[in-house]
This record gives sequence, C-alpha cells and structure tokens, in this order.
Amino acid sequence: MPYQHILVAVDLTEECDPVMHRAHALATSSNAKLSVVHIVEPMAMAFGGDVPMDLSMLQQQQFEQARERLDAFAIKYPYLTAEQRHLAYGQPRQEIHRLAGEQRCDLIIVGSHGRHGLALLLGSTANDVLHGAPCDVLAVRLRKPE
Ligand code: AMP
Repeated sequence: MPYQHILVAVDLTEECDPVMHRAHALATSSNAKLSVVHIVEPMAMAFGGDVPMDLSMLQQQQFEQARERLDAFAIKYPYLTAEQRHLAYGQPRQEIHRLAGEQRCDLIIVGSHGRHGLALLLGSTANDVLHGAPCDVLAVRLRKPE
C-alpha cells in the first residue's frame, strides 16, 4: 500500500533540506499528501520546568516568531500550502504523534544525526519520535558538512 499522508517534522534549520527533498520525492511517487510540522518547545522545558517568573508574553512572541520562520521556510517549498503547514506548542514527540494521529498520517519523516557515544545517550528527536509512534517513521540520515 503506498503512503497516503506523510508528515515531515522540521526544526527549520538548513538541515531540513535533504529531509524535505526525500519527503517530497516519496510523496510524489506515492501520490501522497505532504504536511510539515514545527514544534515550539516551552521555555520552561529548557530551564527544567521550574522558572520563578511569568513566561507567557515571551512564549507568545516565541510562537509568533516561529510562525514567521515557518512561513519563510515554506517559500523554498512552493508545493506546501498554508493548510499543509502546522505549528504546535509542547514536547516534540508528543505533539508530532498527536498531529500524526489527528491528521491520519501513515508516515512520519524526521532527520537523524546518527549520533553515537555520549550524544547517543542523551538521545535524539528521531529516536524519541520512533517510540510509541502511531504510524511508520522514516529517519533521514543527516550528513555532517564535509
Ligand atoms: P535533533 O535530534 O533534535 O537533532 O533533531 C533531528 C530531527 O528531529 C530534525 O531533523 C527534525 O526532523 C526533528 N525535530 C527536531 N526538533 C524539532 C522541532 N522543534 N519541531 C519539529 N521537528 C523537530
């Protein structure tokens, strides 16, 4: 069965290019719909969840900036309509899984740095997304610049 709806998780860095190219090629050959999602991580999460001040204004700004960055990102990929671009707030694994289920996606695509050593112990988003995913997951290997 070819895939019908592919969800690409993008961190909005340059590294997304090979991931997007692979996803687009796969979507074209399967005649599948393609959607992208970027997750804005709560600031409190970065500080270990215990911050003695109100971050709501900053978080609102963070979300608005992410929206602008996602729109700018999409200029490079004219096949992505506004309806195919999603922005979510929370923990990447949880939000990517939620959206994949909600949108009835049958494949999630993420980039993978192929970590080893200490970095592997610290984990990666690709690894995280794989666990408990509601559908297939494809990790596109990101190569270090030569
Ligand atoms: P990382 O393991 O954090 O280096 O990220 C590897 C891959 O996880 C990226 O190429 C994206 O596919 C995905 N990813 C990381 N952070 C995010 C994010 N904030 N929103 C959506 N996808 C992300």
